[in-house]
Amino acid sequence: MRILIVEDERTLREGLTDLLSAAGHDVVAREGGRSAVDCGTREAFDLVLLDLMLPDLDGIEVCRRLRRARPSLYILMLTARGSEDDRVAGLEAGADDYLTKPFAVRELLARVKALGRRATATPAEPEILEADGCVIDLGRLEVDRGSETVTLTPREAGILRWIHRHRARAVSRSELLERIWGTSADLQTRTVDMTIANLRQKIERDPTDPRIVLTVKGAGYAWGGQ
Ligand code: CA
Repeated sequence: MRILIVEDERTLREGLTDLLSAAGHDVVAREGGRSAVDCGTREAFDLVLLDLMLPDLDGIEVCRRLRRARPSLYILMLTARGSEDDRVAGLEAGADDYLTKPFAVRELLARVKALGRRATATPAEPEILEADGCVIDLGRLEVDRGSETVTLTPREAGILRWIHRHRARAVSRSELLERIWGTSADLQTRTVDMTIANLRQKIERDPTDPRIVLTVKGAGYAWGGQ
């Protein structure tokens, strides 16, 4: 696997680099958050080991930016703080998993190995979603309702991809604004509702009684298909 290590503590960074290189991985190490974002958005990696506490740019922010640029990248957060808040913040920022420092080398290698298996065993994220008699091709931006084919905007496809990917939970309006629109302070959450309403016109059998993109009261939206 191609692994990006982001860790400001030199001993740990070098130790991890040696360890993972010895295990046969192609490793790139970065000391700061900004250079990690540069590197991780420009080059392709399978996995990022990301320290939460970085001097220049917080690990959470690094995670958010990498996730936005590389939706299928696997991000494992390394945190010295074991608190629930940090863990949740990390996962909300798009981390896939976390490891609390100090961790055993064996534990880390086991996780990386498991990820490698997962990366090769599971196909890439689906580009075709099927729900409620509707076939949604996210790559071609096409929706086939049986009787007609309509076109999606890239933003609508992005919303569907995001909601489907996180189908185990509801996705909030502010999360969608941040992930799909990019951070824009001037946009209101109402923008999300209007876009979802348009999207429902295209994909739902009955837009007033949605089955694919559900409204979750007080939480946002959730995937309603299988
Ligand atoms: Ca650190």
